[in-house]
Amino acid sequence: MSGIIKLLPDHIANQIAAGEVIQRPASVVKEMVENAIDAGATSIQVIVKDAGRTSIRIIDNGCGMTPEDAVMCFERHATSKVSSAEDLFALKTKGFRGEALASIAAIAHVTLKTKRTSDETGTSIEMEGSKINHQEPVVCSTGTSFDVKNLFFNVPARRNFLKSDNVEFGHIRDEFERIVLAHPEITFILKHNDTEIYHLPAAVLRKRIVDVLGKSSNDKLVPIDESTDIVTVHGYVGKPEFAKKSRGEQFLFVNNRFFKDNYFNNAIVKAYDGLIPAKHFPSYFLYLEVDPSKIDVNVHPTKTEIKFEEDTYIYKILLSSIRQALGKYNIVPTLDFERETSFDLPHSMKNQPAYEPVIKVNPEYNPFKTTSNGGSGNAGGNQFTKAIRAEGFGDRSITPADWEKFYQIDEVDAHEKIETVTVPQIDLSSNQFIFHGRYLITSGEQGLLLIDGNRAYERIVYDEMMRNFVSAPIASQQLLFPMDRLMSATDKGAWEENANLLSRFGFAWEFSEEHIHLTAVPSILQQESIDECLDHILERIAYQTIDKGEIAHAVVVSIALSAGRKKKINSNETARSVLEQFFQSDEQLSPEGKKVISTISNEELKSLF
Ligand code: ADP
Ligand code: MG
Repeated sequence: MSGIIKLLPDHIANQIAAGEVIQRPASVVKEMVENAIDAGATSIQVIVKDAGRTSIRIIDNGCGMTPEDAVMCFERHATSKVSSAEDLFALKTKGFRGEALASIAAIAHVTLKTKRTSDETGTSIEMEGSKINHQEPVVCSTGTSFDVKNLFFNVPARRNFLKSDNVEFGHIRDEFERIVLAHPEITFILKHNDTEIYHLPAAVLRKRIVDVLGKSSNDKLVPIDESTDIVTVHGYVGKPEFAKKSRGEQFLFVNNRFFKDNYFNNAIVKAYDGLIPAKHFPSYFLYLEVDPSKIDVNVHPTKTEIKFEEDTYIYKILLSSIRQALGKYNIVPTLDFERETSFDLPHSMKNQPAYEPVIKVNPEYNPFKTTSNGGSGNAGGNQFTKAIRAEGFGDRSITPADWEKFYQIDEVDAHEKIETVTVPQIDLSSNQFIFHGRYLITSGEQGLLLIDGNRAYERIVYDEMMRNFVSAPIASQQLLFPMDRLMSATDKGAWEENANLLSRFGFAWEFSEEHIHLTAVPSILQQESIDECLDHILERIAYQTIDKGEIAHAVVVSIALSAGRKKKINSNETARSVLEQFFQSDEQLSPEGKKVISTISNEELKSLF
């Protein structure tokens, strides 16, 4: 009796592979344009109809294929780029799996025309569902053109899953931009429904960036150029004053391949510490070059995640070279950049782990905050004003003095944690003085205690939620007016990944195309803090590299921060209850580790008069 196990027929195996490699029309564009680049093309046209649903044509003037290769290229694992496992560690090409064409041919109608320079006639092949329909010699120009029609014609689930033309074309444009920014030496054209979207002549990098982003971007770019034994980094970062409210213009490449990396993104964003306001994102176009044997591009089927052997070292180089470049562009004469200019490691250090550099920067300092805000007794520079972080740009531009402060070491901040280790004894029966609806002044055994009420409240919320998280369900409130908010694909992905956790914390939601529709939130959150809370959460779960085990902590910190910031301390009862609850906590710092209490000792007090 024969068994029940069978080998999958090729066309089904190809369809399954296609599910991984080809998710939407944009994936076809990406794979085909990459092939054209690998074929040495100097000019590549992408012509798309109905966001790629109806047809995608890619025309190149590359090396072309022989009639035999034209047939072979549609076979699974057919590639001219890799012939041994070692080749995988010395990749100079974009493709290597030999999966793209086989996948596309399994789920679309594909016509290929190709000719090598040395051949008189070319070859035309028509494919449908992994089978050759027709093959004949044709007269055509040197190079290759692929015409991909009726994508997903035999995978209705995929076809139905496609979003609106706007969204799908947006993805095509994204992929296209990532490729053209990596290859300024190639001429590219992108047409959609007979409209020319991009016509990009071969150019130097800066011109290519400006051609893609628009003329005004020319003034915003600061060059980066750093070369060490392990990595070279070149490209441009945006001046801080042009930071945007969305993270659209962030491009990282390694060996001319676009990739995404939260860890490196953190390094870049960190370089802007104190120079851009909260919720703003710097633009960057950074090109790393590393020895191909030191990276692994094989970790992700669509190849946007890459593993680096020397990632901590690269982190350090990114951070320092960008900080240096930002400083240089601004020409702050008093700063000594010389110390940091040489990154070449002595040979003996090469195998040692790299440490995150200590940056001479005051993390509390916000150069965008105007100092004269007229409040009584609110002199600029004291502990109180310093603690208040402005949310947006101030109404003046950054001055050289701001930059100098940007580089200052802040002694107080450096010692914050140590200072608060001794828990002050507080006298709750005494009067509390409330300042600006936020700060509390009260007497303690050692002297006068100044307490940041918002941060104290953050700690209270954090402790309470953490306690409940383990023991009881977290109280949730239905929103009277459900809230809609735009969400990027990345945001959505991260949210969905943590869906269980987020609903345990009291969130309830539905997704529509590009929005999240929030119907309930943790009851501790006031309506006006919800948006900010989502910002905090997404920033942490979608864009920062945090361990899985830290996610609950990160979400609670986000909720605590948003709830704390809006807490108004406007009566003696509130003040007393905040103090009472705060001093029950084992921790005397805010959940982010920031200082909550400042003491003016009895001696200091005396010496003031
Ligand atoms: P990979 O790029 O991983 O090798 P693909 O399925 O994308 O796999 O392509 C298979 C092969 O077809 C390539 O290795 C290459 O030899 C050939 N090929 C694909 N596109 C082109 C093109 N535009 N010009 C010349 N050869 C091509
Ligand atoms: Mg390929």
